[in-house]
Amino acid sequence: MGKQLLWKGGCLCGLIRFEAEGQPGFPHSCSCRMCQRATGALTATWVEFDRAKVRWTGEGGAPSLYRSSEKSTRAFCPQCGSSLGAVDDAPVIALLTGCFDAPHRLPLKPLSHSYRSGRPRWWHVTVD
Ligand SMILES: [Zn+2]
Ligand SMILES: [Zn+2]
Repeated sequence: MGKQLLWKGGCLCGLIRFEAEGQPGFPHSCSCRMCQRATGALTATWVEFDRAKVRWTGEGGAPSLYRSSEKSTRAFCPQCGSSLGAVDDAPVIALLTGCFDAPHRLPLKPLSHSYRSGRPRWWHVTVD
């Protein structure tokens, strides 16, 4: 069968580290106001894993959480403030692709883009 995929990443200061196993699910970009405010970026790009496939491996353990909606909480480092992802009430953890150690290796196609109208016109995100 396929080889075991193991993805690693973490926050800017290194206190919060994660390992995620398997094929990243539902690659998508989002330009909604919540993602914009939570990340400081015009567009956030996400991948999802089953909660059981994500381990918080850094010295800081699990990230701090902020409940941003009825369905989800935003995860961030309490020390450096980096946004790491969203821990949904559903058994899914969405991780921000910029936190991965090798974001260029993530299979991100096809990539969808939610709340596209939330970004300025000059900001281009190519999806297919
Ligand atoms: Zn940090
Ligand atoms: Zn969003």
